[in-house]
Amino acid sequence: MKAAAFDYTRPRDLPGLLRQLSGSTDAKIIAGGQSLVPMMAMRLVRPALLVDINDVQDLQNITLEDDCVAIGACTRQADAEASEVIRQHLPLLAKALPFVGHDQTRNRGTVGGSLAHADPSAEIVLVAVTLQAELTLARADGERSAATDDFLDGPMTTTLEEDECLTAIRFPRWTEAGRVGVGFHEVSPRAGDFAVVAAAAQLLLDDDGVCRRAAVAVANTTPMPLRLAAVENALVGAAIDQNTARDAAALAGALIDPPSDLHASAAGRRHMARTLIERAILDAAGPAVAGGQTHG
Ligand code: FAD
Repeated sequence: MKAAAFDYTRPRDLPGLLRQLSGSTDAKIIAGGQSLVPMMAMRLVRPALLVDINDVQDLQNITLEDDCVAIGACTRQADAEASEVIRQHLPLLAKALPFVGHDQTRNRGTVGGSLAHADPSAEIVLVAVTLQAELTLARADGERSAATDDFLDGPMTTTLEEDECLTAIRFPRWTEAGRVGVGFHEVSPRAGDFAVVAAAAQLLLDDDGVCRRAAVAVANTTPMPLRLAAVENALVGAAIDQNTARDAAALAGALIDPPSDLHASAAGRRHMARTLIERAILDAAGPAVAGGQTHG
């Protein structure tokens, strides 16, 4: 099928973009088009006006700030993947990006588009939930901030207003003393497919390998990616080894309620979640611990 008829505009700057959005009903932003174009072709969405943000340079940047890394919403996933700032200061996102689609889709797809599309299997969404990223949303009469959990409103649903543009995503940096370790694992039917289940972990470890801070989340075992507070609490204060990782991961079982579908049964997803969470924790704990076998 082909998209229904639509008007098209390509503003050159953010004020022009926001004016377009405020002056039209039924407008839709297009960024990389890697999700929106297929949905338009299938007539799942039929916007009257497409507002193309690819010329708005203010939305394409990666900035190291004191306590976060700020990423412009129209920053290509491939540019984020190649970014030294992200590799050094946002290792969890750096680890997750290669799982997002394919080289070709990452060359066009954007970090903000992934969040605004809000696919529950999206790796960038999982990282934003894990690290509790802060989003900046702008409209012609001002801007607001929203925590990721307040922005996401269910599968493919956000609290974005019709005349709002997501302009930046601020991923917190952990700047306390100690070593930050990360782990990201997923099961997908083929490389580049959306995750059947994915798990992310970021730990802050002191010189004795004791966990001082933990962020652990899982995707596709609840309607939206879920932070696992009980797992995190079991890790903080513990020296992470195979047993603590396995015992903490087992706690996730009581927090998730996985669906059954053509990709996996609920029991299968539960098993995958426990195993992937354990592996992500062991990776984050570092080579000294992660070298052993993980328990399925
Ligand atoms: P678009 O498609 O342009 O827009 C998506 C939605 O977000 C639209 O509703 C649009 O209006 C809105 N939007 C975009 N930018 C903004 C903004 N700044 N402010 C407000 N609203 C905005 N994704 C994964 O996470 N994991 C995968 O494994 C994966 N595999 C893929 C495989 C293929 C073959 C393809 C084609 C895509 C895949 N994707 C995957 C999706 C891809 O990552 C998309 O790039 C992403 O989901 C949307 O980003 P985009 O910039 O292309 O957004």
